[in-house]
Amino acid sequence: MMKYTNANEYDVVIAGAGPAGIAAALEAARSGAKTALIERYGCVGGALTLGFIGPLLGSVCEGTIGEEIEEAICPVKGVCPDFEVAKTALTRLLDEAGVELFLQTLVTGVIKEGSVIKAVKINGNYGESGIRGKVFIDATGDGNLSALAGCQWKIGRESDGLVQPVTIMFTIEGIDPGQSLLCLHEEHHTVLADGREYLDICHKACRSGELPPNVNIVRLYSTGYPGERMVNATQENRIDPLDPEAVSRAEKELRKQVDQIVSFLRKNIPGFDNIRIRGSASTLGIRESRRITGRSELNEKDMIEGKTYPDTVVHDAFFCFDVHNPAGPGQAEGEEKVPSSPKRYDIPFSAMCPLGSDNLLTAGRCISGTHTAHSSYRVMRICMAMGQAAGAAAIYMAQSGVGSADLDVNIVREHLIKRGVKL
Ligand SMILES: Cc1cc2nc3c(=O)[nH]c(=O)nc-3n(C[C@H](O)[C@H](O)[C@H](O)COP(=O)(O)OP(=O)(O)OC[C@H]3O[C@@H](n4cnc5c(N)ncnc54)[C@H](O)[C@@H]3O)c2cc1C
Repeated sequence: MMKYTNANEYDVVIAGAGPAGIAAALEAARSGAKTALIERYGCVGGALTLGFIGPLLGSVCEGTIGEEIEEAICPVKGVCPDFEVAKTALTRLLDEAGVELFLQTLVTGVIKEGSVIKAVKINGNYGESGIRGKVFIDATGDGNLSALAGCQWKIGRESDGLVQPVTIMFTIEGIDPGQSLLCLHEEHHTVLADGREYLDICHKACRSGELPPNVNIVRLYSTGYPGERMVNATQENRIDPLDPEAVSRAEKELRKQVDQIVSFLRKNIPGFDNIRIRGSASTLGIRESRRITGRSELNEKDMIEGKTYPDTVVHDAFFCFDVHNPAGPGQAEGEEKVPSSPKRYDIPFSAMCPLGSDNLLTAGRCISGTHTAHSSYRVMRICMAMGQAAGAAAIYMAQSGVGSADLDVNIVREHLIKRGVKL
């Protein structure tokens, strides 16, 4: 007999406290829904805090909850979040909204009656237990809750199933204050004071074996603090993000790469001679895993055309198609031809409604989309907007008892507009 952590049923139960899950929880709880947010790790933020990932990329229309979150976690506007500030600020926002937070709690299964989820099974130090809910949101990034609920999913590129590479992000400190070097992407050419081109140095070091074979660019982002940079460079390809053995192997390899990259910077870049590692991600950065099959699938063609939908819940989203090469080094996808950029695009509610589960929604990088479409909507500002929309929809589903397919999405849109979202 399963023990429930709380005899009361929640209106909205959200699995995963990353950017999407946090936005969903804030929206639902602030609108009066009894909201539970379940997170397997010991703090909230997901890739944003534990993954050491920044800056917040992408854009959406004005007025979303992401603006408030960004202000709370980025002491210096436009650069990477401060991860320590974020851990505290995000927890405070959730607490003030009345979200009931279950940390150190892994969602391990569901209890279903037909196509309706009644409860999620959870596992913590106390053993197995459960949380009942009316509506559930899968914001686990990997689509874990939907997979446990038996939903269909896709993974990787259409041609061979390969996903984008995995990365351990880290920060360094101790850079000479006179050295202002940044490198945001592989088209970002910078000539150092001694006349050498930074990207050339990276490419040569990759060829010579000084850098790992898959690392031909060491991206350096501003943290907003003097003498510090965030480093987005380690890379392991052909890792199945759903296979614990592969993920552990990648983690071991990438920790070695962190040291190798630091040595490379110390040796080759003026002003980096005395750098130290300031911190690193507590968990492997997974760019791409399950995309849960929904009632519709977002695709690159519609994004390039800037298609709008009667059930648009995220409006004017924008970020380039950013497929880090699944098969080798570099950011540009090797074999497949990836269109460079979408127009400003919308995300329909139906792409967040997994087939086969009436009271389950997805938000964040696990929604229904193609491999190329995902490479754009996976960034954090867009994930937060999806989370807010899922949180809003969940309230009305919980109140009315209707499933996602029968929900009048106009009510959700009106709700978001009243909240200030310029849909
Ligand atoms: C290396 C790397 C660099 C990136 N760079 C950028 C960047 O510069 N800017 C940008 O905007 N985006 C970037 N991204 C993308 C972005 O970080 C993610 O796509 C985004 O964080 C996804 O948000 P999410 O809320 O969907 O999922 P996540 O942030 O992955 O959060 C999911 C949460 O669910 C929890 N969870 C998972 N399974 C369970 C379970 N069974 N039970 C309980 N909890 C569970 C996880 O612990 C996690 O906290 C990068 C990604 C990577 C990997």
